Amino acid sequence: NKQFTLKSRPHGAPTLDNFALKSVQMPELQQGEVLLRTIYLSLDPYMRGRMSDAKSYADPVEIGDVMVGATVCQVEASKNDKFSEGEWVLAYTGWQEYAISNGEGLMPLGKEPSNPSYALGIMGMPGFTAYMGLLDIGAPKEGETVVVAAATGPVGATVGQIAKLKGCKVVGVAGGNEKCQYAVEKLGFDACIDHRSDDFAKQLADACDAGIDVYYENVGGKVFDAVLPLLNTAARVPLCGLVSQYNATELPQGPDRMGALMGQILSKRIRMQGFIIFDDYGHRYDEFATDMQKWLSEGKIHYREHLVTGFEKTVSAFNDMIDGKNFGKTVVQVNKP
Ligand code: NDP
Repeated sequence: NKQFTLKSRPHGAPTLDNFALKSVQMPELQQGEVLLRTIYLSLDPYMRGRMSDAKSYADPVEIGDVMVGATVCQVEASKNDKFSEGEWVLAYTGWQEYAISNGEGLMPLGKEPSNPSYALGIMGMPGFTAYMGLLDIGAPKEGETVVVAAATGPVGATVGQIAKLKGCKVVGVAGGNEKCQYAVEKLGFDACIDHRSDDFAKQLADACDAGIDVYYENVGGKVFDAVLPLLNTAARVPLCGLVSQYNATELPQGPDRMGALMGQILSKRIRMQGFIIFDDYGHRYDEFATDMQKWLSEGKIHYREHLVTGFEKTVSAFNDMIDGKNFGKTVVQVNKP
């Protein structure tokens, strides 16, 4: 069983040196346990936080422990009555090829699920995050303008498509032409602006000629700088993530702009709210699953995966995602089904 354990805490972007790739012998299966074979491993931005010991909403991964992560696995062997060999489950077994579980917390996905990896993306945590953050905190109304960055990733793409279903104008922000074209042509966004272009702020302002009513915050940094002056009175800002800062080692240079930000929030009565999906909305998963299953079956939501084959590529695939070199939901295929 190969596994990536955390060897040291990264300073800035993680490197291969921060991890140890180990081969360990699996212990014999005890009564009540199942042996899980990882087929798909989800890579998500929150994992950068778990590599760090800065105080956060969840405990860090300890040095020497296997990196955490959601997985879709097949039951390879079972001594637990609730699970049978060959069955698929959604698990949280982390960056490793095999794991032993007592069955607790495993979500059965059936014997022959049509798209098992969707449980890590559109039907799972990222899709749920998009749905709740947008609908519960963003509360978009028909005709309003919604802006979302990381627009082709699993959260952003879903936010924008749901906002379209709710009758909004949707402007995406993404890295590069190809992604922007995809957001407009495939996802149905009204516009999508490349955050790397020199006149990004001007292009965003032109695309949002009626201002911004909902800014779904995934990235922070200079995208937020361009958004702030465009926010309308009573705008809502679901604060979902700040991926541009996850590898930061110090505060950005420049004058303290906190006063100006607070002034904008006050005078425009902006409501900005952070949320942690399962802590705040775990009890509403079924609501999301019902709507999303329906939209998918009606072809109203498109979903794109960035599938990386080979467990050894996990660290580089993680960094690629933080850098925007992914195109869709990053999933590592660890083993063949
Ligand atoms: P993505 O797969 O979209 O990957 C992150 C993307 O961020 C990159 O692909 C890149 O896209 C973009 N990005 C990176 N750096 C910058 C930058 N400096 N400026 C602008 N964009 C940048 O990630 P997810 O969809 O999985 O997650 C999106 C956000 O949602 C993250 O911030 C994540 O932490 C957050 N999240 C929060 C949850 C919660 O409970 N609060 C739960 C799940 C996710 P591009 O090339 O287009 O720039």
